Amino acid sequence: MATTLFISDLHLSDNTPEIEAGLYALLDREQGMERLYILGDFFEYWIGDDDDTPLNRRVIARLKAVSDSGTKLFIVRGNRDLALGAVFADQVGGQLLGDTTVIDLEGTPVLVLHGDTLCTDDVEYLKMRAILHDPDWQAEMLQRPLSERREFAKGLRAASKEKAENDPDNIIDANDQAIAAAFAEHKVALMIHGHTHRPDRHKTADGERIVLGDWSAEASWIIRATDGNCQLEQYRY
Ligand code: MN
Repeated sequence: MATTLFISDLHLSDNTPEIEAGLYALLDREQGMERLYILGDFFEYWIGDDDDTPLNRRVIARLKAVSDSGTKLFIVRGNRDLALGAVFADQVGGQLLGDTTVIDLEGTPVLVLHGDTLCTDDVEYLKMRAILHDPDWQAEMLQRPLSERREFAKGLRAASKEKAENDPDNIIDANDQAIAAAFAEHKVALMIHGHTHRPDRHKTADGERIVLGDWSAEASWIIRATDGNCQLEQYRY
C-alpha cells in the first residue's frame, strides 16, 4: 500500500515545542510513507535559508532523515514561509513546488497549493502578496544582514500575535469563484490546500476540495492518501 501524507500550517517557531514534538512523532509513526507533501506555513517565519537557529537545524535534520529513508519530500511555500529557498530544499533532500502544482496521486490528478491565492476577497493581503513575491524585493531583503532580518521578523511576530492573525476568524476563507476557476484552469476534480485553518471536505459540481487544518499543542491535521483514497484525519499526539 502506497501512502502519501499531506500536512500544512504547523507554524513552527520557538513558541511551539509541542507542535515540533508532534511533528517528530508523526514522522516516526509514518516511517516508510512514499511521499510527504508540506503545503505551506510549515514555519511561522522564514527569513532566509542562512538563518541557522537551533529550531531550524533540528527540523532540517529530521526532514533530511525522512528523505534519506526513501520518502519523497515536497514543499510548497506558504505566506509565512515564502522565503524558503533552494538551500533549504537541498538540506532536507526535498523539492520545492510552485504556487500551484498538479500531482499524480495513483493515477488521479490533484491540485496542491497553500490556499492563500484562493482567498481573493482578501484584497489587501493579495496586494501585499504581490510585493512580497516580487523577486527584486525578495533579493533585496535576503541580502540584508541576518541580525536585521531577525529583528524584522520579531516585529512581524509581535504584530501578528496582537492581531491574532492565525485565528481562523481572522483568516478570510477561500472564494467560491476562485475555487471554481482553479478546478477549471488545472483540469482537476480534486484539490488539497491549507492556509484557512478550516479543516473540512467540500464537494461541489466541479469536484472535491479537502482543506487541511493548523496544528495545535494537542493535535495535528493530516490528509492520508492510501492507494489514492484520501482521508482527512486528526492526529492527537
Ligand atoms: Mn497561510
